[in-house]
Amino acid sequence: MGTTLESTDEQMRELLERLHEEYPDTTISLRFSNRLELLIAVVLSAQCTDERVNTVTAGLFEKYETAEDYASASQDELAEDISSITYYNSKAGYIRDACSQIIDEHDGEVPDSMSALTDLPGVGRKTANVVLQHGHDVVEGIVVDTHVQRLTRRLGITDQHRPEAIEQELMTVVPEGEWVQFTHLLISHGRAVCSARNPTCSACVLEDICPSSKLDSQVDLDSGESWDSGSGA
Ligand code: SF4
Repeated sequence: MGTTLESTDEQMRELLERLHEEYPDTTISLRFSNRLELLIAVVLSAQCTDERVNTVTAGLFEKYETAEDYASASQDELAEDISSITYYNSKAGYIRDACSQIIDEHDGEVPDSMSALTDLPGVGRKTANVVLQHGHDVVEGIVVDTHVQRLTRRLGITDQHRPEAIEQELMTVVPEGEWVQFTHLLISHGRAVCSARNPTCSACVLEDICPSSKLDSQVDLDSGESWDSGSGA
């Protein structure tokens, strides 16, 4: 029986409590040992699994250590070094250009403000939020990736589509002290249970408060389509 609680605040409180219990130690799964590595890993992770990124960066971070190393690499060489990553050609270009800008405008250091980060080629608000939170310990917003986008829509927390609009709504309902963990909790739940194609609603700790539950609802509120029509039954 999936029904949202009376208010979004109540729904949020309940969801946080249950997911904290389910995934007590969840955190970022990308591997990095400094801010530049974090930035590179997050840029590489767009539309690619963190697992694949970690495999590639294990060797990449041995070969390239500074912004200068990336900026001075040839496009072909860097693209080849990340060729098992999705959109490797564009990402190689973004990384080289972002590192040149970091050298020219920030003395080779990854900047620590939202505006300076989002000025870098290939860096949007999601990437900037991750770098600020995990590289600089600065929390300015909520990271909205594909899991957060899907789950917040399925759970009836938002009906916005664009990640930026979802983030703005979430910032009004997620308690500020939870802004970082909220993302990791939803990513963990998305990976473990609430997958894009075939969520395991019968094993979900949020089933009774989820208006998209397949046990009770015909419609996936994320896609707006019937579960039978393709999201998997
Ligand atoms: S697994 Fe099913 S019940 Fe759980 S959050 Fe996802 S759609 Fe809702």
